[in-house]
Amino acid sequence: MPETLRNIAFIGLGKMGTPMASRLISSGYQVRGFDLAEEARSQLAEAGGIPAENPASAVSDADAVILMLPTSAIVESVILSEEVLNLLPAKTLIIDMSSSEPLRTVALAEKVSTLGHKFIDAPVSGGVKGAEQGTLTIMVGGAGDDVESARPLLGALGRPTHIGPTGAGHALKALNNLLSATHLWITSEAMLVGEKFGIDPKTMLDAFNSSSGRSGSTENKWPNFILPETYNSGFGLGLMVKDMGIALTLASSLGIPAVLGQEAVALWKKAQSDLPPDADHTEIAKWLRSHPGSPE
Ligand code: NAD
Repeated sequence: MPETLRNIAFIGLGKMGTPMASRLISSGYQVRGFDLAEEARSQLAEAGGIPAENPASAVSDADAVILMLPTSAIVESVILSEEVLNLLPAKTLIIDMSSSEPLRTVALAEKVSTLGHKFIDAPVSGGVKGAEQGTLTIMVGGAGDDVESARPLLGALGRPTHIGPTGAGHALKALNNLLSATHLWITSEAMLVGEKFGIDPKTMLDAFNSSSGRSGSTENKWPNFILPETYNSGFGLGLMVKDMGIALTLASSLGIPAVLGQEAVALWKKAQSDLPPDADHTEIAKWLRSHPGSPE
């Protein structure tokens, strides 16, 4: 591992951040972490990391700062706070691994660069399981040198691919989740129809998975979280709707109407308004079963 990126500040120790920080610790990095939740800080200590009392003390001796937070607004509020900026060592590499908004990411990267720091976006796909196993797909945006300097660190978490300039990782991540959510909705509709016709659900999934209808929904979400009725993928429905909205805002800013995408977001938002705020995104299939009509 390059000596320059040895001390890592990790902010946001939620469902993804906790297993990601643990992987860095077991790969030999020193991780000083912060989360608003005390329980998350205790889990970091149990994994061999150093819990910090606030974000500023987490970053004070960092070579790189990883952010794994819910939204762009929270990422900005943490990294641009006066306390953090005062203690951030010069030329620190900031890595936003959250699923953030690409246009805000471009603006944030410019801002931190004027303050003498470096910035890359590196959002992930692969869920909690991928975070635990270190097999995340990591979509990286930023300048080539900065991306290369982070490659060993990101390699401890999964497979980093340099997608393009700053914001390209966040753009691709949002587009991926627009696809994923749309697949899950239409897969769930198809499963309802087939089931009502009398076809066994597992037989349907096996057939889809060896046919052109397969997707992450048929290969993973339906067999692992929906059929067993556990609905515990670890990815919140609210976060999925957030990501779909990011993709649509990007489309609209580029003058692309994305009509199916707009419809998909409206459908998911309807379900979101009925489900509890902490619902897992796979609960959409259960919701559809009890709301088979077209949502108003
Ligand atoms: P989560 O809600 O489980 O965790 C977010 C954590 O951030 C929480 O522990 C919360 O206490 C903490 N937090 C919020 N505001 C904070 C602040 N100001 N300072 C410090 N900590 C703060 O979310 P998650 O599922 O871990 O997702 C994190 C990010 O990763 C999101 O952007 C999400 O869209 C993305 N993501 C999630 C998954 C998944 O499967 N869960 C997969 C890929 C990407």
